[in-house]
Amino acid sequence: MARIAVGGFQHETNTFSPVKATYADFEAPDAWPGLTRGEALFDAVAGINLPVAGFVQEARALRHGLAPLLWCQAQPSGHVTHDAFEHVSAMLIEQLRAAGAIDGVYLDLHGAMVAEHVDDADGELLRRIRAVVGPDLPIVASLDFHANLSRQMARHATALVSFRTYPHVDMAASGARAARCLHDLIGRPRPAHALEQLDFLMPLTSQSTLVDPMRSLMDEAVALERTPLVVVGLTAGFPASDVPDCGPAVYACGHDTAATSAAAQTLAERVRSRESEFALEIYSIEEALGIVMASAPQRGRPVILVDTQDNPGAGGNADTMTLIGELAASRVERVLAGIICDRESAARAHAAGQGATIALALGSRSGTPGDAPLRGAFRVEALGDGRFTGTGPFYLGARFDLGPMALLRFGEVRIAVASRKQQAADQAMFRHLGIEPADHAVLLLKSSVHFRADFGALAGRVLVVEGPGPNVPDPARLPFRNLRPGVRLRPHAAKHDD
Ligand SMILES: [Zn+2]
Repeated sequence: MARIAVGGFQHETNTFSPVKATYADFEAPDAWPGLTRGEALFDAVAGINLPVAGFVQEARALRHGLAPLLWCQAQPSGHVTHDAFEHVSAMLIEQLRAAGAIDGVYLDLHGAMVAEHVDDADGELLRRIRAVVGPDLPIVASLDFHANLSRQMARHATALVSFRTYPHVDMAASGARAARCLHDLIGRPRPAHALEQLDFLMPLTSQSTLVDPMRSLMDEAVALERTPLVVVGLTAGFPASDVPDCGPAVYACGHDTAATSAAAQTLAERVRSRESEFALEIYSIEEALGIVMASAPQRGRPVILVDTQDNPGAGGNADTMTLIGELAASRVERVLAGIICDRESAARAHAAGQGATIALALGSRSGTPGDAPLRGAFRVEALGDGRFTGTGPFYLGARFDLGPMALLRFGEVRIAVASRKQQAADQAMFRHLGIEPADHAVLLLKSSVHFRADFGALAGRVLVVEGPGPNVPDPARLPFRNLRPGVRLRPHAAKHDD
C-alpha cells in the first residue's frame, strides 16, 4: 500500500476569447463541483464521469491511501487570470507540502490551460510540483483529449494518460487508467518518454473518435500500448489556444527507450498519413436551412444543427440567436433549441409563470458581433430550477445547477433557456423541462462534438453550422501569432510561418 497525493486543476483556454477565467470561476460549481480542498473533494466528485473520480475509486480498490490536495475546474474561456493561476497553484503546493510522506502524486489536468502570464500553464504547474517532490517520485497526470501536450509537461510528469474518446465518455476510465499506471510505477525506475508534436491544427469538429480517421487512429494507439510501453497516447489538441505547443501530439512512455521512441514515431507517422481526412466540413446558415427544408425532417430522427461557434464548451457564450431566428422564420415545424444562457429572460419567465405569454429580447447578452436578440412574444411552456443529474454517457452523474430555467415557445421553435451556460450534451438538460428531444424534427444544439455521446443515436443527420460566435471552427481564420514555426493552420494548408 502506498500513499498518493491527489489533486486537480483543469482549464481549456481559448486565447481568442476576451472573457477571462477568474478565481471566482474556479470556486463556483456548474455541472461539476466548485473548488474543493481536503477530504471533501472525494465526496464532491464521487460517481461523476471525471478523471479524479475514476482515479480515486481505482486507487482505493488497489488499497492505496490517498492524501487529498484540492480539485477545481472552470468552464472553457479566455486566459486564466494571473491571480487565479497563482492562487490555485500556491494552494496545491501548500497542501502538497503539508501532506507528509507520499509515494506518488496524481493530478487531474486538462493540458490546454493558458494563464495571462504563462503559455504552458499545465507544464509550469508540473514543473513546480516536480520541484517540491524531487526528481524520482512518480507524478502521473491525466489529460484531456484536447491537451496541447508540451515538452515541459512530458519532462516533469513521470507519465501522462490522456482520454481516448471525443465525446469524452472515458473521463473516469482515464482516471482509473492513471491509477493503475501510477500503481505500476511506484518503486520502479523512471520510464523513458517520447513526444511527437504534429505540425497541423485539427478542427474540433473533425476530431471525433466516433468516426474516422480518429476512430481507427485511436485503435492503433491502444494496440501499441503493450509491454514494455506503459502509455501510448494521441491527443488532438485544442486549436483555439495561440501558444507554441498548440496542436495534436503523440506521447509514449515505457521501460525501453528505443521501443518508446519507435512507438511514438510509428503512431505519429500514421496520423500524418491521414492528415487530409481531418479537413473541416461546415455549412453556412443558408446551406443548412436549405438542406433541412429539402429533407422533410421527421419526428424521432431529428436533423441536428450543431451551433458550434457558440459552443460554451469551447469558449462560446451559448446565447447567439441568429440561427434560431432563421429557423423560426423558415417555419420548419417541431424545432427544439438550446441551451440558451439568458438569466434575465429566465427570471422574467419565472415571474410571469407557466402558460403566460411575455415580450422578450431573448439572448445575445454577450454582444457577439453579427448577432442580435430574438425579439417578440414567447409563451412560457415549462419552468425548472435547473437542478438535475446528467444521464447521458458524457455528463453521467453530473449534478447540474444551471439556475432558473424555462422552456419558451416562439412560433414553431421551442427554446430551452438557463441562467448559467452549459454545453448541450445531455438529454436531461431538456427533459428537466418536461420535453423529449426525440419528439422533434430539428434539434439545434450549442455544442461541437460532445452532444454525439447522448444525441448521436437519435440523429437523422448532423450538420455543423457556421452561426455567430467566438469558437471559430476553422483555425485558419483565427489570428494566430504565437504558434511554433511550421505549423499548418488547417490540414494540408499553407504553412503559418517558415
Ligand atoms: Zn476536451
